[in-house]
Amino acid sequence: MKMGQENGKMDPFEMAVAQLEKAAKIIRLDEQALEILREPMQILQVRIPVKMDDGTTKTFTGFRVHYNNARGPLKGGIRFHPEEKLSTVKALAAWMTWKTAIVDIPLGGGKGGIICDPKKLSPGELERLSRGYVRAVGEFIGPEVDVPAPDVYTTPQIMAWMMDEYEKLTRRSAPGVITGKPLELGGSKGRGDATARGGMYSLREVAKRIGLDLSKATVAVQGFGNAGQFAVKLVREMFNSKVVAISDTKGGIYSKDGFEFDEVLEHKKKTGSVKGYPGAKDISNEDLLELDVDVLIPAAIEEVLTAENADRVKAKIILELANGPTTPEADEIFYRKNIVVIPDFLANAGGVTVSYFEWVQNVSGYYWDEDDVYEKLDKKMSKATKEVFDQSDKLKVDPRMAAYTLSIKRVADAMKLRGYY
Ligand code: GLU
Repeated sequence: MKMGQENGKMDPFEMAVAQLEKAAKIIRLDEQALEILREPMQILQVRIPVKMDDGTTKTFTGFRVHYNNARGPLKGGIRFHPEEKLSTVKALAAWMTWKTAIVDIPLGGGKGGIICDPKKLSPGELERLSRGYVRAVGEFIGPEVDVPAPDVYTTPQIMAWMMDEYEKLTRRSAPGVITGKPLELGGSKGRGDATARGGMYSLREVAKRIGLDLSKATVAVQGFGNAGQFAVKLVREMFNSKVVAISDTKGGIYSKDGFEFDEVLEHKKKTGSVKGYPGAKDISNEDLLELDVDVLIPAAIEEVLTAENADRVKAKIILELANGPTTPEADEIFYRKNIVVIPDFLANAGGVTVSYFEWVQNVSGYYWDEDDVYEKLDKKMSKATKEVFDQSDKLKVDPRMAAYTLSIKRVADAMKLRGYY
């Protein structure tokens, strides 16, 4: 590991650049192209004063990072997180660039964040903060410029406030300024569970390749947010796999007989956590990662699979629904151990793919059926998965590096055609 780490964790942007450099070397990327790709094209940092319910004003710091828009308008979510850092937002913006390229949608990569704890804000405070963010970054976003979306702790309701504020600023209808909106305001059918569903299509293709029967597979899911919850639901619905472990920020549960989604969700709604589920054994988030399961789905936060625990991981497939859950050292260990990693910017690209469909529907004003969305998503994910794993076989590199080589080539080709280098 390198300098600039906290709590034994690598700086996220250093991790993103290390991955990029490694892939660039494999395909002998032109040094001038690499130089452009090493840093975001633009970074905006803003201060957002918000009137709190008690009459005082609190000022929040926010970011919006434009990593690269050679392939089209910038695209990427906004995180509301108490420990948000510019370095994390930069890393996530880089990963968005590779993500839109790997599923070959005509968009670039960006990301935003606000340092705040949304759990400690009232609905009114949250609304004023969301609107304040849009007023602050208003010149930086737009349907043909940069299109934000939900991410950690941001919701369709927040997207609705943000869209409304942007429309007030510009005095025109602009549903394509943001995606992940509620259906009533131009959201797309299928966007709610798109990240997990896209991951399932990718998992299905990889399982086929390695001869794993998903109907007999055991699964552990870390995280019970937007990605994790739907992963539990869909892996049951689509493949009838057995989900033996689930966790959230407070801890996890294990049962060899498996869990049903609705029942765990109900328990979480009642008690605030999956923990303490009747009849299950309480486990820690760390224990969950090391269970003897066929499929491990990290669907929570960055850097949970590291040099420290990678040797003890027993899964056959790791489906990375979270962004950045595996460090480069852990990647090498997994590759050596023949554990197949479906890398984050492929595995979780379903979210941005349906965001792209939403944007297309907004711009054209014509809305699709759910089946259309699923079919188009399946096609995109299956094709990208095949390309990544074929490339991995061809170059004899791990799937993350294979995905990187494809994505950076696509971005570099677009930059070349534009005459950047
Ligand atoms: N925040 C999601 C991601 O990391 C979705 C981004 C989007 O829809 O633009 O992929």
